[in-house]
Amino acid sequence: MRGSAELAQKILRGDRLSLARGITLVESTPGSAPGLLKALRPPRRAFIVGVTGPPGTGKSTLVDRLISQYRKKNLRVGVIAVDPSSPITGGALLGDRIRMAGHGKDTGVFIRSMASRGWTGGLSRATSSAVQILDAAGFDLVLLETVGIGQSDVEVVGITHAVIVVLMPGLGDDVQVSKAGLMEVGDIYVVNKADLEGANQMVTILLGALRGRPQSPSVLRLSALPGKDIAGLVDAIEEIRARFSKAPKELNLRSLRGMIVETARGNLAESLQRVSESKADEMASQVLLGRLTVEEAALRIFGN
Ligand code: GDP
Repeated sequence: MRGSAELAQKILRGDRLSLARGITLVESTPGSAPGLLKALRPPRRAFIVGVTGPPGTGKSTLVDRLISQYRKKNLRVGVIAVDPSSPITGGALLGDRIRMAGHGKDTGVFIRSMASRGWTGGLSRATSSAVQILDAAGFDLVLLETVGIGQSDVEVVGITHAVIVVLMPGLGDDVQVSKAGLMEVGDIYVVNKADLEGANQMVTILLGALRGRPQSPSVLRLSALPGKDIAGLVDAIEEIRARFSKAPKELNLRSLRGMIVETARGNLAESLQRVSESKADEMASQVLLGRLTVEEAALRIFGN
């Protein structure tokens, strides 16, 4: 406990090494997160933005551009890039790609990758803790980048104040986009790579898919790579940030609700893994003997 109080003091003073150590700690030893976060008392001042979408749509490129834009506004920017480490995306980790783009030496920028491989629910809990640590360390804007391929990648952005979904031309008939739940989570939709053919068609498909949402989200066309029309995206983010600055309660409640659910999901997944290791064999024997049904065994697995 004393250790986490000392670490917390250093994080609050903005010590980068301690910040990195704090994130490693909550990632590797989730049990340490409650103590550290309590000592940090995250002030909930940081504006947290999720960036999600299928692999290859240009999320990292866009995050890199956003870092530059917000550094010009003198905001300190923290980035958590959740890496799927899967054969689908391959290549360098998202965080590394952003770092390589030249923000590595800027002390107003902190970039961290978190690998999602092999996590059973722990990812969302660790991500939520990491975002809170960046808030406590005084970052004004936290960008949380996840690959929107699985339900959990998409769900994790529920801990943010605003979500940008990045798509590109040619994804129109890709069922993955609607299946992964991307159509429900975005506040801002970006059709990136507008320099490529089919961008208008993608916008049309997108508007159709978003019809029926109670509040229509913004839909923007831009090209992150040549950096064209980024200002429109910054304006859309700033509109939500202004709402957050004026009356933070509503958006903070949304983000905290997400953090609580994601942390509970992590705790539950961990408990389930623990009990299934110790109890599933015994339960299976009971079912085989006809003393329990599968459903009854599943209900009892958390009991004594
Ligand atoms: P991520 O997987 O979503 O993070 O995508 P990346 O940012 O790594 O981009 C995937 C590829 O698309 C890279 O080769 C980028 O250079 C390229 N790319 C990004 N933005 C644009 C754009 O606006 N136009 C074009 N033509 N290519 C882009």
